Amino acid sequence: MIYKEYGKTGKLVSAVGFGGMRFDETKTLKENAEIVRYANSKGINYFDTAPGYCNDTSELIFGEAFKDMPGEFYVSTKGMPTQFDTAEKAIEAVKKSISRLGVKKINFYHIWCIRKREHYELAMKPGGQYEGLLKCQKEGLIDHIVLSSHQTGNEVNEIIMDKKVEGILLGVNILNFPYRWEAVESAYEKGYGVVAMNPLVGGLIPKHEKELYYLGSDNETPTEGALRFVISCPQITVALNGFTTKEHIDTACRIADESKPFTQDDIEKIRKKVGTAMNEACTGCGYCNDCPQEIPIPNYLQFYNEKHLFHATDEQMKEKLKFVYEWGVLAGKNGYASKCTECGYCEEECTQHLPIINRLKEICSWDE
Ligand code: SF4
Ligand code: SF4
Repeated sequence: MIYKEYGKTGKLVSAVGFGGMRFDETKTLKENAEIVRYANSKGINYFDTAPGYCNDTSELIFGEAFKDMPGEFYVSTKGMPTQFDTAEKAIEAVKKSISRLGVKKINFYHIWCIRKREHYELAMKPGGQYEGLLKCQKEGLIDHIVLSSHQTGNEVNEIIMDKKVEGILLGVNILNFPYRWEAVESAYEKGYGVVAMNPLVGGLIPKHEKELYYLGSDNETPTEGALRFVISCPQITVALNGFTTKEHIDTACRIADESKPFTQDDIEKIRKKVGTAMNEACTGCGYCNDCPQEIPIPNYLQFYNEKHLFHATDEQMKEKLKFVYEWGVLAGKNGYASKCTECGYCEEECTQHLPIINRLKEICSWDE
């Protein structure tokens, strides 16, 4: 395992982090906790969770695992400023996470899911979440206040310049990095920890290995190339992987053990091949859920990625749509795209700022 300094915190964290958003929910708490302990035995010491992940069981699974996990390890969890909009609510949230995780303190507490400047301002307002987190820090309940963002590179950069937090968690991967690289480099140069989430673009890379052949080099698959990118880039401190099985952990750890780093030259080559396509791709993050018409927006938009990324024709998309309704990501879903009332809720929430309404209209035009 490679270990890296997390910014200026003095903490040495594993380059592969355990993202607790993809536990197998058919398994028991204890069975999933066993996966966490296995990761720790392979050298992983950074564990990231959040209230709500995996039907709100993720923090509890980690809590179970931490009961008898040897050695030093670091715990990261989160709270949204839109939900905990006062210092008191923020303190309550921290205490609740500590109790669920069964730890004395949270090492990295994230101001969670900043999608626009107003969210950041809400967290920072007098009497708001940040004030509560500072109090927790004084009382020894939090080591470091950090932040997760879904904004563009220059927007994240503005937050970094504010110097209120010590690290940043971003959805950055081999396909979308040009969109956020400015922030990654700036954070790295200024001594921030940089944690990357969603390294395989919600499963899109393993699913499209043929089209994305250029992401791997030598004997490497595109999926391995994508993992190597986030694990070995010096600018990225921790690459979060949403592990479900021990095999997933073995693969990521093998890549960390073997990997040769990406040079600036390699990064530039990939930048040219990828272009800016991923700026406008759906990552499957799910923040647009809760459509009042119950339209499964992430499923539709992930389907739309195929047109956008691989230049499928309208005819091909028509064919594919029939298939996905029957067998694919839209099978068994209620709430057809045609029910959209254009209320605008989903576009407000979208972490990628996508024109969801227009994409749904286009999908409807393929649905004959
Ligand atoms: S704009 Fe359409 S798809 Fe989006 S939330 Fe409103 S009804 Fe749902
Ligand atoms: S449409 Fe936007 S918010 Fe919804 S899943 Fe895709 S990227 Fe996330």
